[in-house]
Amino acid sequence: MFCPECGSTDKKMIDNICIDCFLKDFHMITVPDTIEVEICSHCNGKLEKGKWKDIEIPQEEIIYRALENNIQINDLVEDDEIELEIVQMRGTIAECYVEIIGKVYGKSLEESHDVNVRLNKTVCPNCSKRNSGYYEAVIQFRADKREIDSQEFETADEIVLNTLDKLFDKDKLAYLVQIAKPKEGHDYYIGSYKSSKKVVRALQEEFGGIIKESPRLISEDKSTGKGLYRIWISLRIPKFRVGDFIKYDDKNGEITYISGSKVQCVELTNHKPFSIQWKNYESIELIKNKEDIEKTNIISKSPSLIQILDPSTYEVVDLKMTKELEGLNIGDDVYIIKIENQIYILAKKL
Ligand SMILES: [Zn+2]
Ligand SMILES: [Zn+2]
Repeated sequence: MFCPECGSTDKKMIDNICIDCFLKDFHMITVPDTIEVEICSHCNGKLEKGKWKDIEIPQEEIIYRALENNIQINDLVEDDEIELEIVQMRGTIAECYVEIIGKVYGKSLEESHDVNVRLNKTVCPNCSKRNSGYYEAVIQFRADKREIDSQEFETADEIVLNTLDKLFDKDKLAYLVQIAKPKEGHDYYIGSYKSSKKVVRALQEEFGGIIKESPRLISEDKSTGKGLYRIWISLRIPKFRVGDFIKYDDKNGEITYISGSKVQCVELTNHKPFSIQWKNYESIELIKNKEDIEKTNIISKSPSLIQILDPSTYEVVDLKMTKELEGLNIGDDVYIIKIENQIYILAKKL
């Protein structure tokens, strides 16, 4: 065959010209000279196809991905290997170098391009909400009929921050705007309502208590008539703590454990465990605090009775022997609690 461009007659022909003439104008890849990328200067999120995504990825990674997404490889190329390099940053422009080696019709070729990736810094909608102090919910951390102590405040703050940290990957509004500290508790202002619910559950898991939500209308869209609401979520933690003594259903109990679902107790008369759901909270009566526990020792014991000294009156008191107390010996120290003139030996070890 005869090549109309160079006149050669002995070469492989493609589209009526010889392979060398064909490859003279052939490009293995096409890539724009300049690629524009919208990135958020706060979170490095980037705008792609109208949506903000890939938050918190390093700038270099954004540049490499922009290059990869904009390179088109010709279908004729085989065994291709592409190398990308950021040569230097000039302000917000990354000067890049793209190199490809590959085969076309069995011939090994090499090709390179200079590409500028321009990073247009803006602020994504989530960051702009965050910067403006936008919040959808407020968690009010309160206690029922008592003060919250500094250790509890510290633990609560920690739980709020750690939980938001974990949620932030999936919810960019999982941020804390501020902690207000009125006398009766802490108010956590949180960007996202959805994440606030998870945060308040985490608090309830630690402290127990009752959650209540109350939406407040903050403004109304005149055109649609729809209201814009903010949600106040209160967690009222119980009047009692682990170690305190309560009365419930005619049972006197020592609280051994508090969780998001229930209060776990041990009955004082027979040391048997029982639990109370939070929905029955109002029926729980706090009768003694753990600070009221006293210490005394065992004077004598028999199979049915155990004798101790009342530490306040120094009177000898006979108590019923139970299975849990069988292991105690004369002279042993024990913890006791006095409730309505009745003394109970606590099951806890000394
Ligand atoms: Zn030719
Ligand atoms: Zn952002």
